Amino acid sequence: MIKKLIAIAMAAALSACAFSACSSGNDNPSASSQQSKASGTVQPQKAVQSTDNYRNFYQIFVYSFCDSNGDDVGDIPGIVSKLDYLNDGDPEKGDDLGIDGIWLTPIAKSVSYHKYSVEDYCSIDEEFGTMEDFEKLIAECKKRGINVITDLVVNHSSNRHEWFVKACEEINQGNPDGYAKYYHIVKEDDKTTGDKYYPIQGTDYYYEANFSDTMPELNLSNPDVRAEIKKIMKFWLDKGVAGFRLDAIKYYDTGGDDGKDFCKWITDTAHELKKDSYIIGENYSGTGQISDWYSTGIDSQFNFPMSSAIGDYVNTTRTRNVKKLYSTMQSWQKNIRSKNKNAIDSPFLSNHDMARSAAYLVGNLESEKLAAMLYMLSPGTPYIYYGEELGMLGSDKDNDGTYRLPMPWEGDEWDKILIPNTSVESAEDYIVTTVKDAQKDENSLFKTYQQLIKLKLQNPEIARGTITKVIETGENYAAGYVIEYDGKKVVIFCNADKTESFSGEISKSDCGYSGIAGQVTARSAGDSEQAKLEGSTLTVPPMTAVILR
Ligand code: CA
Ligand code: CA
Repeated sequence: MIKKLIAIAMAAALSACAFSACSSGNDNPSASSQQSKASGTVQPQKAVQSTDNYRNFYQIFVYSFCDSNGDDVGDIPGIVSKLDYLNDGDPEKGDDLGIDGIWLTPIAKSVSYHKYSVEDYCSIDEEFGTMEDFEKLIAECKKRGINVITDLVVNHSSNRHEWFVKACEEINQGNPDGYAKYYHIVKEDDKTTGDKYYPIQGTDYYYEANFSDTMPELNLSNPDVRAEIKKIMKFWLDKGVAGFRLDAIKYYDTGGDDGKDFCKWITDTAHELKKDSYIIGENYSGTGQISDWYSTGIDSQFNFPMSSAIGDYVNTTRTRNVKKLYSTMQSWQKNIRSKNKNAIDSPFLSNHDMARSAAYLVGNLESEKLAAMLYMLSPGTPYIYYGEELGMLGSDKDNDGTYRLPMPWEGDEWDKILIPNTSVESAEDYIVTTVKDAQKDENSLFKTYQQLIKLKLQNPEIARGTITKVIETGENYAAGYVIEYDGKKVVIFCNADKTESFSGEISKSDCGYSGIAGQVTARSAGDSEQAKLEGSTLTVPPMTAVILR
């Protein structure tokens, strides 16, 4: 292996010295007493459960996760039965993944399998279980330190919701003043351009429904609708959810406004009902719009521009240009925090509306691990799509059929859970390993996720901190960043080169660290080497990230 020794050109210190810890970080007596001089490592900190909203979330597509009663439909008791896999309650040890947040896709009554068309907001769909099952899920998650958030789909309801049924009755009776005002129901001349409308049978009225004729859009500026939504939020917060994933916020527009007013109202209302509740919005847009919507005070939004096959994380696994990635991350953080000082970015690779990340990484295990390292070690609250940790594939033309395949536990019983009306007859071709096998395999992607989550719990600054400096080395593939939180500094440094080790000087006084506190590699176990720190010369094996503190 060729080793390069490169003088480190530090990026301009970006107001780093506004922090008091700046010059004294490497003189921390407790850290230096723990330092092992031989390899430049420091004793890792204890992994501590999160108590705030900076978490490692796991998205569960309920229909596809785990079936408990043999009807080939995933359900809530199924999720309860698998909680020990997600988090066994001990952040220091176990075979569990270690996540501490769950986003459940919709669970309320709906005829659709995905349940994004809601008929009764304060219910559990019979297919998925009962309210008692849900209460048990919340209680079991509490024991394990897992926060649960549910999908809140209020841009539209189902056309089977009693509000819409009554609205149509009112229109038919020529008295459209009550529930009819819950929706956008208009005559031909009052249709707004760019929106889709469907006729109300037997009348000359139309209702707006941009997603589907079964999903009429709610009039979110109507105070009566807002009062109903407040009741719904209170219902679920009282049940113990930690917050909500807001579906389709960019469609919240109501006539004259763009929907930000409602977004601000729903966020404020959640915080009023429960001070530390957490709201994350699905704003499937570019950087400009997502940044703009942070001005509503919303806690968090999914980072769509950095996700998917063409987003920054996956792109970096191809270009290896971590220098560029870290600069992007720093400017993005600065951007969103200028709109909302408490903004929590939510990086992810894929979700139920996208091809599986392992598919666009062409099933290359090293690339999958590198992508995981890049987004999981970013500041904020990352979201892992169920099965992402197993490298599940799925990117076929029958989109939803392959994006929402069953979670492969062990054996092949799970293979019966396939979403309705898919041409996919078996998940077999898309499954590379089962949970049981991944847990036994030291080289599995699952183990990398497990390790990354543990590193995050040992180094709480990574999720919560401010990126104060990008560390440049003169090479695009080797770079790092300093992240500061609560007067403490941590450095994340990555050598993304595929085959070559990297060596260079990382100034201890500028970056405020004592030694190596952890490392994670994308290379297969047989190839892994340890990173070393001699003086301030850091040597990092290929495709490896180190944590310095
Ligand atoms: Ca079931
Ligand atoms: Ca554990």
